[in-house]
Amino acid sequence: MSVFSEADYDNHEQVVFCSDAGSGLRAVIAIHNCRRGPALGGCRMWPYASEQDAVRDALRLSRGMTYKSAMARLPLGGGKAVVIGDPHRDKSRALLEALALAVDRLGGRYIVAEDSGTTVADMQLMRHFTPHVAGVEERVTANGVHSGDPSPATAYGVFVGIRAAVRVRLGQDSLTGLRVALQGVGHVGLALARRLEAAGARLWITDVRREALSRAARELAATVVEPQEIFGLDVDLFAPCALGAVIDDQCLPRLKAAIVAGAANNQLAEARHDAELFRRGILYAPDYVINAGGIIDIHYERSGYDHAAVTRHIDGIDDSLTEIFQRSRQQRRPTGEIADRMAEELF
Ligand code: NAD
Repeated sequence: MSVFSEADYDNHEQVVFCSDAGSGLRAVIAIHNCRRGPALGGCRMWPYASEQDAVRDALRLSRGMTYKSAMARLPLGGGKAVVIGDPHRDKSRALLEALALAVDRLGGRYIVAEDSGTTVADMQLMRHFTPHVAGVEERVTANGVHSGDPSPATAYGVFVGIRAAVRVRLGQDSLTGLRVALQGVGHVGLALARRLEAAGARLWITDVRREALSRAARELAATVVEPQEIFGLDVDLFAPCALGAVIDDQCLPRLKAAIVAGAANNQLAEARHDAELFRRGILYAPDYVINAGGIIDIHYERSGYDHAAVTRHIDGIDDSLTEIFQRSRQQRRPTGEIADRMAEELF
């Protein structure tokens, strides 16, 4: 197995392999860059087909966190943990304890939060063994009790970003009548759908989980479509809020939307799909810029929560995207490439 010659290895500061025989823990913690501050990033638990896949995911995701936090102007670096295993079968109290102790040994250079396969409750448990955990605080805000789940803040940020993209690409300030195809009505997707509907948008939604889809359909005046249909709809905007790598060679020729803007991480299957979207005149809101609401929310949880300050900070996603879109037009370069260059100036 290689690490230094791995394509996703990008001069990571530290890559730690953690194991614990008693609990069966096998994890990789990758710290990409701490120049702006401690590396904060979620812990993903997944039954990876190989150890190489787990390492690759940790390297790629931690690098993404550096770019995301830099672009959101947060005093944070990029890191990520991945645990090899099935969260439904292999996750135990002992495993989370062993993982928390591994995080603790890094002395605060890495701060763990929830991600796919881990929950806020898992983070609360890990908090007993290390202070270097984020996304766990329950707090009362003007809008009610906040569980520590960053999804509502992520959805708000995506909504702000969609408004910016619509303004730039379609020349309109209002979302009334905007036709949106939304893939994945989970934590972020459903919250985003609610906001879009309240703003007057018309929605087409899909999900592979029937119960998530029926719940959303009961609540929203949306048209439900099959998962494969979501790409080819005659809409203004496609909002990927499910998995990564959704913009690929199969999806691209079918897209009729003028804008791609959604919550999912790593939306582009390969870097070249950034250029392909640009060539087709589809305005792509770079994923790590538009979905930074959650990390912004988590940052404020650690530094003293202030709902108004969080909202103001998330509103800055509009400025960041507007600048990316302008530079992209001036330089005739794809938006993802422009975002990467801008982020690299910040760390
Ligand atoms: P989630 O698991 O709650 O929701 C994802 C939904 O997508 C699920 O309902 C799932 O069934 C559905 N789905 C999966 N594959 C699908 C497919 N092929 N077609 C249609 N639906 C499909 O996750 P979430 O927390 O809402 O996050 C959504 C995306 O946003 C993820 O890519 C995540 O990495 C990213 N993201 C989330 C946050 C956050 O704060 N939760 C922050 C930044 C980025």
